[in-house]
Amino acid sequence: MAKTAESIGANTFQFFTRNPRGGKAKALDPDDIAAFRDYAGRIGITVFLAHAPYTLNPAAADERVQEFARATFADDLARMEATPGQYYNFHPGSHVKQGVETGIEKIAAVLNEVLRPEQTTTVLLETMAGKGTEIGRSFEELAAIIERTELSDRMGVCLDTCHVWDAGYDIVHDLDGVLESFDRSVGLDRLKAIHLNDSLNERGARKDRHARIGEGRIGFAALSAVTKHPALRHLPFFLETPNELPGYADEIARLREAWRA
Ligand code: FE
Ligand code: FE
Ligand code: ZN
Repeated sequence: MAKTAESIGANTFQFFTRNPRGGKAKALDPDDIAAFRDYAGRIGITVFLAHAPYTLNPAAADERVQEFARATFADDLARMEATPGQYYNFHPGSHVKQGVETGIEKIAAVLNEVLRPEQTTTVLLETMAGKGTEIGRSFEELAAIIERTELSDRMGVCLDTCHVWDAGYDIVHDLDGVLESFDRSVGLDRLKAIHLNDSLNERGARKDRHARIGEGRIGFAALSAVTKHPALRHLPFFLETPNELPGYADEIARLREAWRA
C-alpha cells in the first residue's frame, strides 16, 4: 500500500481493515509490518487511516450485529497496535428506528467496552450524510458520542466533505462558518483527518454519492480551499472519489498545484 501511495504522488493512504462488507481479517505478518514501517519511513509516510467495515453498526438493535461490532472493533484495535499512533475511522452507525438518542447511547457503550487505556490508536467518528437512519449527520451528534465515551482522549473526527455537504453544511459559500460550528460542538482539536470528495447531489440531499474532484456540486475551487484552510492544511487528506489509480494521481497533482499557488 505504501508503494501504491508513492506511485501516485501520495504521502498517506487509507485502507479497509478487512472486507468492507465484513468477514475475517488476514493474519498479521511481522515481516510484512517491519518492511512496511521501513519503507513508509523512507518515503515520508507518517500517518495513515484504517477504515472499519461498513457492516460495523454499534447502534444496531439486533444483538448479533452488536456482537459483530464489538468483536470487529476489538480485533481491529488490537491489530492497529502493530503500527502505533495511527487512526482508525468508522461510520458511527444507523439507529434503525430506535431513535438517535438510543443510537448514540449504544455507540458510546460499545466504545466504552472496546477502547483500552494503553492503546495508541486514535478512533475517528466519520461525519455522515444522514441517509436513512445514519447517526453523525450533525456535529452535535458526534459531540454527544464523544461526551459519553470514558476514554474520550482516544477519540477524534474524520470530516468527509461529500457527507457534510449532503448533510446540509455549506462548505462552498461558508467554510469558515461550518468550521466555527464544528469548533463550538466538537472542537477543532478533535479533527484529525479529511475525506476529500466531491458530491453528485445538492447540498442537504442526505444521499452520499461521491464524485470526482471538480465533477460534482462542491467543485474544485471549494475543495481546494478545504486543503488550504489554515485550520485544516496540516491534516491528512484522503480521496474516496470514483477513480482508478491514474485518476487519483491526477487529482493529487491538481490539488497540489493549487495548494502551492
Ligand atoms: Fe467512510
Ligand atoms: Fe468517507
Ligand atoms: Zn460516503
